[in-house]
Order: sequence, then C-alpha cells, then structure tokens
Amino acid sequence: MSNFTLDVGVWIDLLPEPTLVMDLEGNIVAVNSSGREFFGGSVLDCNLRELVATPPEKLKKWLLLWQQATQIVPGTLRDPQDQKIEVEAVGIHRCQPPLILLRVLRQPRFLRQFIIQRQQFQQLQQQMAQQTALIVELQQRQKQLEAENHHLQEISRQDSLTKLANRRAFKACLPIAWRESATTHTPFAIALLDIDHFKCYNDTYGHLAGDRALQRVAHAIKSQVRETDLVARYGGEEFILLLRQTDHDAAICVLERVFKHIRNLGIPHASSPVQPYLTVSAGICIVAASLQDCPMAELVATADAALYAAKHSGRDRYVLQTYPGMSVPISPSQEI
Ligand code: GH3
Ligand code: MG
Ligand code: MG
Repeated sequence: MSNFTLDVGVWIDLLPEPTLVMDLEGNIVAVNSSGREFFGGSVLDCNLRELVATPPEKLKKWLLLWQQATQIVPGTLRDPQDQKIEVEAVGIHRCQPPLILLRVLRQPRFLRQFIIQRQQFQQLQQQMAQQTALIVELQQRQKQLEAENHHLQEISRQDSLTKLANRRAFKACLPIAWRESATTHTPFAIALLDIDHFKCYNDTYGHLAGDRALQRVAHAIKSQVRETDLVARYGGEEFILLLRQTDHDAAICVLERVFKHIRNLGIPHASSPVQPYLTVSAGICIVAASLQDCPMAELVATADAALYAAKHSGRDRYVLQTYPGMSVPISPSQEI
C-alpha cells in the first residue's frame, strides 16, 4: 500500500458513511470502519465483485465511469439480497494508477437497520458457536462420567483378588433368581463352598501362596458353571454359587464337576488332616421359590447349615438341603 493510500485510509475513517477505496479493477485497498460494518469485516483485499450482486458488465461500466470522473458520479449497486445500494464515486487522479473512492449514500433508516441486523446476526453466530462448544464439551464429559460410572459399578461388584463377583453382586442377583423361580416354577440352587483347613495352608505355605490358591480355586469353580450362573467370593476362603433353573440332580452334577476339578488341581496341602492336597466342602440349598419376598438370609443360612454338616461329617464333601423344608441331608458327596 502506498503512502497516499495510507493517507486516504486515515482520511476516509473520518467519514460517517461506508466508504472504500479501490484500484481500477475494483480491488479494495482501503476501507473505513463504517464500510467494514456495512460490507463485512474482511473486505480489504477483496474485489467489489465479491461484495455485491451487480452483474460484472455493469460493474465494469461503473468502474470505468468512476475512474474517469473528476466529479462525484452516482451509481446503483445491488447487494447480495438484491437490494439497491445507492453510491457515489470519484476517481482519485493524484496517484498513478488512479484509485476510485466509493461512498455509500447515507440512507439512515435502511443503513442503521442493516448494521444493527448484521451486529445481531454476528452476536447470534457467536452465541451459537459458544453453545455448540459447550454442548460438545458436556457430551464428552457425560460420556466420560458414564464410562467412569460403569467402571465404578463393575469394581464395586467385583472381588479384586479373584476377579469373581463379590457378596454385594450375589445379593443383587439372588432376588432375581428367586422371582424367576417363583414365576417359572423351576427350582434354583445356592451352594456355599469353603476351602478346608485353609488357615493351616496359609501357616504352611505363606499368605501369598494362599492368595494364589484362592485364585486357582476361584478359576476352577468358574470354569465348571454356565455363563448364566453366578460365582461370587462370599468372603475369606468361601465362595457362593447361584445356579439358576437347577434341581437336585443338576446341582449334584455341577458340584461333582467342581469338586473333581479342584481335586485335579492337586494343590499340595501337607498340613491338611483330610487329604495331602487342597480340598473344599460345600453346602447346597435347593430352592423352590414362592411369590413372597425373597428370604435372602434364610436361604444363605440353609446353605450354611448344609456346609456346617459337610465340615462336621469329615470335610471334602458336600451336603444338600432343600428350601423350604430344611429336610435332612440328601446327598453327601459319595466317592470321597
Ligand atoms: P475349615 O476347614 O473349618 O474351613 O478351616 P479353615 O482353616 O479353612 O477355616 P478358618 O475360618 O479357621 O480359617 C480361614 C482362613 O482363611 C484364615 C484366613 O487367614 C484365610 N484367608 C481368608 N481370606 C484370605 C485371603 O484373602 N488370602 C489368604 N491367603 N488367606 C485368607
Ligand atoms: Mg470359612
Ligand atoms: Mg475353611
């Protein structure tokens, strides 16, 4: 930009009307603040063609006319909405090549309204952009929270050592199995399973070896039940199984498999008075549910009583009882 154009740039800023200075092709080299508002923020270095919807031939004719003028020549351009823009322009011949100074004629009502509308539109655009950014941020945060929540829910229902479900998860599932049993008239089974003489195991092999044994037993139990069954660590060296749609025979079948699998692990237990390897005992409760509320504590107590019976009749076996009824033990594990 020449010094002359710079001078014109400063000078036109004093004019209240939208005013711009172009070269002979219509390339804009200076614009005043009112012109920036009228034509839009980034008019500098644009061509007049890009700002108006006046046909190119007509524009060319005006440019030629204004270029040659030494007096102000009026003209009519069309804005992009096809509204008339009344202008006056004059050639500035003091510089080479000459420039054209174009001034939009003040039409106060139209102009003020136009500028206000443009400002409002820009404000709206800014607000929308801010709100969109806010929505995107909120959506991301929500996704993050959902993932964190899901993770927290998972770990709140999981035992960290064995990665099995924990007692809380079992308590949440038990009423569901109860309702299912009541409505489908099919029994289900709960089995409490406890490692025999595990205190001695820890004393003999150390707590870390005890942890590892717990993990192996947990894995062995889990591998012998269906996906729909729940295996949870009930506490310490006790596990609880929730076997849906399972009657006496099916429960015996599952427990036999679990016992066999744990025996086959052959985890040495030299200080056990039962076997030279790690064994477990179990109490099974076969439940025929009714439409009353799930008597959680009673069901677990029934399985616990059966476990107690298994422990006191020699360990390394299971005892089966029914609910309701608390009948005598039905089937201690035979082959042990
Ligand atoms: P029983 O055959 O009558 O069940 O005898 P037991 O020794 O297994 O039963 P007791 O209740 O006397 O001892 C349970 C032991 O289980 C004691 C405790 O140190 C051990 N135990 C409980 N939780 C853990 C654990 O997370 N890791 C390890 N290594 N040991 C555990
Ligand atoms: Mg125990
Ligand atoms: Mg034990």
